[in-house]
Amino acid sequence: MTALPPPSKKKLGLVIDLDTCVGCHACAVGCKQWNSGGVAAPVTDEQPYGKEPTGVWFNRVHSYEVAGTDYTTPPFDPNANASDAGSSKTACSDGAGIAELLAQPAMTLHFPRSCLHCETPACVTVCPTGASYKRAEDGIVLVDEDKCIGCKLCSWACPYGAREYSEVEGVMKKCTLCVDRIYNENLPEAEREPACVQVCPTRARHFGDLGDPESKVSKLVAERGGVALLPELGYAPVNRYLPPRPRRARDIEPSVDGDTASPARGTIAAWLNRVVKR
Ligand code: SF4
Ligand code: SF4
Ligand code: SF4
Repeated sequence: MTALPPPSKKKLGLVIDLDTCVGCHACAVGCKQWNSGGVAAPVTDEQPYGKEPTGVWFNRVHSYEVAGTDYTTPPFDPNANASDAGSSKTACSDGAGIAELLAQPAMTLHFPRSCLHCETPACVTVCPTGASYKRAEDGIVLVDEDKCIGCKLCSWACPYGAREYSEVEGVMKKCTLCVDRIYNENLPEAEREPACVQVCPTRARHFGDLGDPESKVSKLVAERGGVALLPELGYAPVNRYLPPRPRRARDIEPSVDGDTASPARGTIAAWLNRVVKR
């Protein structure tokens, strides 16, 4: 089993905006293109032109239809007292203002998924050879393919499905946070960020140091109420997701602390975690 380094001050990671992601897959393709020629190469494919193509993708985008919610309508309760029929009770115990805020139209939500570079990653501690490791200097989780024996323990241990096994090479692979771009002095400084961040046409992806409260990404997460995926599992993911903004802005009334996004954010965060658990 593999030991973790002491917690690093620098925590590099991604922040993904679910409000502006349009599910175009540019990040997935950009990632595949860059990494097929980089340190993680080859990012292999099997039967790429067949009916059931499979392959190694460090970043995958899933799309979901989210049903609309109308919290102003009480749910049907066959045991309800007949004398309550026709009453104006709402299904939301917080009152009509919040009920209207939570009433959301149906929407399509696109969810890009890659390694979250967890602070206490099960994929590392479960590795019998030391092939999976976490860097002390910046928190990036990597695989040393020369030490990997292809036992797949890490992919079973990762609750986020972020590990990718190459059937062709017989080794495990994963998102490298584009370690060969972000420190690459042969690239112009503006291009020293992950390929997926560079290609996103809606600027839904952000990269930076989430261990520094003054960094742009940390401020963005604080401002938008960014969430970690399944934090209750205890692996402390570094990446954050920014929840979609409520779709009916005219219905929003500031809460006592002035945070207009919090009720909907809680709803979306709970929904997102349910989807990831499946
Ligand atoms: Fe979403 Fe951007 Fe990826 Fe397109 S490139 S799927 S908009 S994150
Ligand atoms: Fe490991 Fe999975 Fe966490 Fe990535 S998301 S560090 S693969 S446990
Ligand atoms: Fe792929 Fe790099 Fe983005 Fe990770 S950071 S998903 S390796 S492009």
